Amino acid sequence: MHEYSIVQALIRRAEETARAHAARRVEGLRVRIGTLAGVEPVLLLAAFEVCREGTLLGDAELSIESVEAQWACRCCGCGIAAGGALRCEACGGPGQLVAGSEIELDSIALEVDDV
Ligand SMILES: [Zn+2]
Repeated sequence: MHEYSIVQALIRRAEETARAHAARRVEGLRVRIGTLAGVEPVLLLAAFEVCREGTLLGDAELSIESVEAQWACRCCGCGIAAGGALRCEACGGPGQLVAGSEIELDSIALEVDDV
């Protein structure tokens, strides 16, 4: 399942970051998921519960921020309302998706030993 490979990639990146900072564990992850990214947050959370076992993210919390789709004109850059013709009202140019397809690791909270 697609969500598992996403979660594994997120965990790998979080672990790399944790090691780079000599962190003991990862406390939490925050990801941004576009509504058009083809990812089900519920499935992502379920996959995370399974995949975090035995990693530095063993009791980390995953929070998901949903990002609404946004369109803009490819020619002049002005915003275009979703759900319509996806053509620019100002110049007639074609719309392109500028937000809503992302799967991004937004932030990682680490627990680091006091030195
Ligand atoms: Zn335009």
